[in-house]
Amino acid sequence: MKGMVTLVGAGPGDPGLLTLKGREALERAQVVVYDRLVSPAILALMPPGAEQINVGKEASRHPVPQEEINRILLDKALEGKRVVRLKGGDPFLFGRGGEELELLARHAVPFEEVPGIPSAIAVPAYGGIPVTHRDFTSSLHIVTGHARAGKALDIDFEALVRTGGTLVFLMGVASLPELCAGLLAAGMDPDTPAALVERGTTPAQRRLSGTLSTLAGLAEEGRVESPAVSIFGPVCALAEEFDWFDALPLKGRRVVVTRPKERTGTLARRLRDLGADVFEYPCIRTQPIWPCPAMERAVEEIDAYAWLAFTSPAGVEALWSMLERQNRDARALGKVKLAAIGPGTDRALRAHGLRADYLPEVYDAAHLGAGLAALARGRVLLLRAEIASRDLTEALEQGGVPYDDIPCYATVYESAHAEALRALARSGGLDLVTFTSASTVKGFVSSLGEMDFSGLTGICIGAQTAAEAARHGIPTVVAEEAAIDAMLKCIMKEVSGHGTH
Ligand code: SAH
Repeated sequence: MKGMVTLVGAGPGDPGLLTLKGREALERAQVVVYDRLVSPAILALMPPGAEQINVGKEASRHPVPQEEINRILLDKALEGKRVVRLKGGDPFLFGRGGEELELLARHAVPFEEVPGIPSAIAVPAYGGIPVTHRDFTSSLHIVTGHARAGKALDIDFEALVRTGGTLVFLMGVASLPELCAGLLAAGMDPDTPAALVERGTTPAQRRLSGTLSTLAGLAEEGRVESPAVSIFGPVCALAEEFDWFDALPLKGRRVVVTRPKERTGTLARRLRDLGADVFEYPCIRTQPIWPCPAMERAVEEIDAYAWLAFTSPAGVEALWSMLERQNRDARALGKVKLAAIGPGTDRALRAHGLRADYLPEVYDAAHLGAGLAALARGRVLLLRAEIASRDLTEALEQGGVPYDDIPCYATVYESAHAEALRALARSGGLDLVTFTSASTVKGFVSSLGEMDFSGLTGICIGAQTAAEAARHGIPTVVAEEAAIDAMLKCIMKEVSGHGTH
């Protein structure tokens, strides 16, 4: 059976600019053949079992020749595989997508193309430049600034200038002086607004604005490197007013977000929306303890308890995986009241159609304990981590409330991405690091080994987490409340210079 090849445009860099259809294709792929310009967050969507073939340029070697790429696509499809060919921007816009389809068509291999968001439009947009505007221009021209080896640029500058439209050049960093000279010679006004946007739509985006006569000089001074697009036309003058992306409050700031592997990155997404350069580091994983006779017995006798308390979503999941093994469901919980340490844990309950009857005012173990001590008439069941805070049980003891404290999950350290984190540390790229539990601190430190952490700032969700960070010499700031919003507020304060550094 023949397989199938899907050409997918990955967009210009921001992982949010991959299309839904592209994402679906990627998630189903058995083989992914990708380029240099595709962002790591998009590559992370590849299914773990998929074969990954990098045909892009690496520092030490040349890109795979086009004929060979065509060949790889054909061979993998003939093996019966679902192949995704992932390319930057749009595959058909200076992307050689057409060339890659020719061989497939000749061999009657089924294929499809999923268009991508082209850098020619999206990169100016992220630089605050709308490529057309009724007041200024009525056409847009996208041109390659790349000359075939040893040849001069093959561009009809007179024709382009005559259109009066916005001109966007791709692959034109090296040839920029020649491009500008060509436009000038063809009669374009030297004062025409012009701009260059380097690594557009990514946290490293940089825009240089000038005019046709100054842009090449600015680019040389600023050492602009590929990938960049250059834009010529009156619309470029709008950039100062429309500069929304570079103006984001965390633009370009690197934040390492540590988290348990199984939690989705809400904090990471919110930080990205604020322009941060986020490095997500799943450094711990929680594992239900199984077999767990103590929990099994407790759940069988659940009616003997007045309250069931959870201190993390992992506790909720551990209970669920046990109920599932027993072929039971939420009804097993009967009339027992539910307490959750904070909104994240409450959300985990809601995902199973339940909601917490009690959340403490301050989301920590001590307050949960004090609240339960005041409320509970009868026995409390705690489903917690193997290593858990004494604050909760002490508060219950003080209140004279009987309880059973059952460890039902263990925390294990994950180091799948440790090498990338170490590389970041070596390059001095560690600055702000978020910690949402003492175990994420331990996971982070265990990946890096003990080192001098005095240059970074640990943004901690609460006092216990901060104490753990301080133990390893990490300077800390603590969120006012154990919640994502409070952590974001803390980061904003730190970045605007009111923090400890
Ligand atoms: N098919 C791609 C273009 C491939 S040609 C697309 O539709 O976007 C490669 C050129 O695209 C680069 O030389 C650069 O000019 C431009 N480019 C791609 N990604 C870019 C980015 N993030 N920022 C600036 N320019 C980019």
